[in-house]
Order: sequence, then structure tokens, then C-alpha cells
Amino acid sequence: MRINILPKDVADKIAAGEVIERPVSVVKELVENAIDAGSTDITVEITGGGKESIRVSDNGIGIEKDDVEKAFLRHATSKISKTEDLRNLITLGFRGEALSSIAAVSRLELITKTEDEKTGQRIVLHGGEKLTFESIGCPRGTTIIVRDLFYNLPARLKFMKTESSESGQIIDMVSRLAITRTDIRFKLISNGKTVFSTIGNNDLKAAILSVYKDREYKELIPCELKRKGLEIYGYISRPSFSRANKRSQYFFVNGRTVKSSVIEKGLSLGYKERLFEGRSPIAFLFVEIDPNDVDVNIHPNKKEVKFDNDIEVISLVQDAVIDALNKKDAVSTSQDIYVKAEESVSSYKGSPGKASFNNEVSSSKDNNSKAPNVIFEKGEQVGIRDFLKQETREKKTLSPSNEIIEELGNPDIVATGVLPFDFDDLTFGETIFNTYITATDEENFYLFDQHAAHERINYEKFISAYTNSEKNSQILLLPITIDVPVELIDDENWVGILTKMGFSLELFGENSFILREIPEFMEISEAEDFVNTFVDEYHEGNPLGNRVVIDKLITKACKSSIKAHDKITNEEINALISQLKACGNPYSCPHGRPTFIKFRLYDIERMFKRVQG
Ligand code: ADP
Ligand code: MG
Repeated sequence: MRINILPKDVADKIAAGEVIERPVSVVKELVENAIDAGSTDITVEITGGGKESIRVSDNGIGIEKDDVEKAFLRHATSKISKTEDLRNLITLGFRGEALSSIAAVSRLELITKTEDEKTGQRIVLHGGEKLTFESIGCPRGTTIIVRDLFYNLPARLKFMKTESSESGQIIDMVSRLAITRTDIRFKLISNGKTVFSTIGNNDLKAAILSVYKDREYKELIPCELKRKGLEIYGYISRPSFSRANKRSQYFFVNGRTVKSSVIEKGLSLGYKERLFEGRSPIAFLFVEIDPNDVDVNIHPNKKEVKFDNDIEVISLVQDAVIDALNKKDAVSTSQDIYVKAEESVSSYKGSPGKASFNNEVSSSKDNNSKAPNVIFEKGEQVGIRDFLKQETREKKTLSPSNEIIEELGNPDIVATGVLPFDFDDLTFGETIFNTYITATDEENFYLFDQHAAHERINYEKFISAYTNSEKNSQILLLPITIDVPVELIDDENWVGILTKMGFSLELFGENSFILREIPEFMEISEAEDFVNTFVDEYHEGNPLGNRVVIDKLITKACKSSIKAHDKITNEEINALISQLKACGNPYSCPHGRPTFIKFRLYDIERMFKRVQG
């Protein structure tokens, strides 16, 4: 491959600017060059967070002797020669100035050899000035060592962060590359210690485990969907395994790590109602899209991708997630609870007083005594205002996905070989502790939380009561008086919304209404509570025609459900389960707690030491 010097106009079109800002930018450029060179083995070694030294070695094609010096000229690249190439660029690095920029601000050494050449070359440059250029014996490939970055630019040096901050950025970047290119063996070493190494066997899950090391990531489930030339694949967590932040969400578009509020939106819509408030899933999601339908990201530092059609991407991600979570494999398992306990050791360290939820599940050796028994953090109730803000934002980027699906035609779901969860496979047994209904199928034991299940059923009833035009109301023998702030007396709006939900209200005196009818499935006290909350929220200026707010209120009001310790009869159990089965989302209560948990036979046998693992 010959290296050409780019014509000035081409060079200028490329948003070159500040290529090298900090150690991580050096590592990024060098590793991308190594990838472009067809390497199957790349080792990155840093000391002092990359401020002292960065070394990247590869087994790629190498640089021919005649091209070695040229590679350090500004706008030297073997990868493009004219403007049109930019749009179709498949290689990662393309600005043709990384090597020259890095060389200009460091003490750089490059050793390289091509397959055909007998000897390799070594070149040393300090501040861009060539000190040495000589032949040297070395294997095929290229090694570049960058020492004392910005030694000649004190202004830049000042902006370097601490060693751990700089190395953190490098580790994050190389980690993302390593799981993007699962065909390449990556090794990352920091101050002599191996941070991770991958096998390069094209196994994404294996790569994720090697890089991120979290044992719990073994429990991630596949998520795949393809339609109309748009494809998504990757791994996500079961609803029972979540985090308090979004830091464990990794998105990639056409092999590049990206930030994307669009993918994030699709992901959270896919988990809607499946997660406890304030919890976020873990996700490694890769989107493949026609490069013409996405902004070719020329500027190196602008990571947020721009899709031509946000809605299409959101609905693809959402549907892929929903589909994955409906698989039998996605049912919350006891295993996740151990995992959760371990996670809480690291991530809740600073907050020992966090409320815990009823979760005393039998422990195993995995569940060491240090681990607090937290499954779900009792999420802060998010204020209605926050919800509204969120909703307004959603409105801008999103419309309901059903229409889109019609437009796009039937999704061809990629077969993952995993069965959907089916209630009909279950045999129900005794109820234990007057709370948990037991069930089994061939490979699992289940506990259904009767309260959570009932909440889910009530919730869906309410939602459909609200969305259906036909209302089933019950007339109250003793009407309830509801006090209303004077400002609301002449406002018909809120009365209209409540009427739509199956309430019937009449003006009564100066500042009150009489509640005559309530939705059929609500208890009287619950209905009274609901209407009072509703009026308060409305009075505070929260527009309640909004579905999210309604959801929120319903969740709050949804208290008529069987309490955990109410004894229920067999008939009631059967009715409960068959109603749960009919729910749109039978897996979690409206607050995001699981309605049932699976104990895999395999895990049970492990606890009894019948199997190794
Ligand atoms: P670009 O990558 O945009 O072409 P760089 O300044 O990063 O520009 O690199 C200049 C040239 O040096 C590349 O086009 C490539 O030919 C050569 N080069 C750089 N690193 C390597 C490497 N690790 N292996 C082989 N060739 C390399
Ligand atoms: Mg490059």
C-alpha cells in the first residue's frame, strides 16, 4: 500500500482540528491504525495513565521502508485520496494526521516491518524532529511507543488529569474497541498489570466477560432483531438485574462506540414497567445501519450519533428488548438476586442506609455475608414534574411505535433458539407464607408474589378502563364529598379526565364535588384517595391528560390489591394466575418489582453440590 499526500482541499474538508487532546486520543489513533492494518493481535501498554508512555504493538501489515518517513507528514494517509471517499469510508482512522500530530508533541519511536521485507525499520522522532532512522530486526507488524506526551507543550500538559482519570479513559476506550472487534485479540496492560485480554474468537459474550469481568454478566440475555436493513444485536440484563445508573449501557453503531439518546430511549421503552423506578438495565447493543442513514461522524470528539430516522431506530431497539424479555430465559431468577447482592457491595458502598425490599432469599456460598440483601433499591418517587419533563422530551422524538410497526411490516425475528415464557407449562402448588404461590415446570421452580401479581392485574384493568371508551362504574350508596380549591370549580378539564376514567362527579356547594360513581374495580377508600391526589396534582399545575401522569397516579392509588399476607383460596389463586397470564406484561408489578421469580433446577442442584459450577 502506498501512502499519498492529500491535496489541500481534501485535507481542509476534514475536520482535523484538535486530534490529540490527551493520552486517550493517542491510544485511540494508534489502535485504530493497528486495526486498519489488518492486525489480529493488538497489545496496548501504558504507564502513568499514558502520560509517561503509551505503547501499541500489532501484527498488521506494517509500513514499507519507503513509506515510514512519509507516514509522519501532515495529511499523509494510505486510506483516502479524494473527497468522495470520505462518505464511504470504512476504515476507522482517516484524517491522515494522527501520526504527525502525535510525533509533534511527544518522543515517539516506531518499529515496523512488512511481510515481504527482510528487515524492519526503526524511526525515532522528538517533537516531530527525526533523530534516528535505521534498519532493525523485528517481526511483522508495527510497534509505536509514545513517551512524554506534551513534553514540549506545557500549556497542554497543565490540562492533563490525574493518572487514574487518564488511565480510566484509556481503559474504557480500549474496552469498547475490544468488544466491538471480537475478531481481534486485545491485551491491555497498565503499569505492568494486565487489565484484560480477549481471545479474539468472535464470541461477543466471551469478550464482554473478559473485558468487564463482572461475573454477573454471565446472566445477560441475547437481544436481536433485524428488519428493513436495520439490525440490532447484543446482550441485555434481565429485569431482575439492574443498576442505579446508566453507566453499564454501551451502544455501538456500525462498529463505532457512540452516545445515543435514541438507542437509550428504545432501551428504556423496552423495559418500561419491567424495572423498579430509578433502575436501569445493563446493555451492550450494536446497531448496524446503512451508512447513508446515519451521520458519518467526521469530528472525532462528537460521539452522539444522528440517525436520519430516530423513530425507526427507537422502535427497533424497543421491540428487540421486549422480545428478548419475553423469552423464558428472561424471567427473573434467584441467581440474579445473588448477583444483585454482590453488586450492591461495590455500588452502594457509600450508602449503607439504603432501604431494602423484602428479599430474604436463601443464601448460598456466593452470597457472602458482607453483601447487603438488596434486590431493588426502593426508588425515590420521581416527582410528577420530572415525569412531565421527561414526557415532553419524549413527545419530541417519539410517537407510538405500533404505527411504525405497521409501516415497516412484520419484523422477522432472528431465531435465538430460546422459547417464549408460557404460563401453560406451569404446574401450581401450595402457597407459602400466605404470600407466595409456588409453581414448577420441567426445569424450574417458581414463586409468584400474590400481591405484586394482583397489583399488575389491577393496574392493567385501570389502564384499559382509561383507554377504552366503555366504562364500568359502580354507583356509591353513600356519595363521597371531595373538597376542591375554588380555582378548580369552574374548570371542566379535570372533571372530564376523571369522567373518562369511570368516575362521576357533581358540583356540590361552594368548593366541593360529590363523587357518585367510581371505576368498578376500585375500592371506595382507594377511589377517594385517587381523586384527592388527582385534584392536588392538577391544582399544582400538572396537566393530567397526560398518560404518564395517569400511570403514576394509578400506581399510587393501586392499593386495593391483595396484601402479602392475605390468605387466598385455590379458586382465587387460579383466577389470579389466569388474569396475570392475560396481562400485557405479566412479569412485573407497576412499580417494576417482579411478579414471579424463577429458581433454576440447575442453581438448586448447585446449592446442594449435586453439580459443579
Ligand atoms: P491515517 O490513519 O488517517 O491514514 P495516520 O497519521 O494515523 O493517518 O497514519 C498515517 C499512515 O501511516 C496510515 O495511512 C498508514 O499507512 C500508516 N500506518 C500508521 N499506523 C500503522 C500501523 N499500525 N500499521 C501499518 N500502517 C500504519
Ligand atoms: Mg490513523
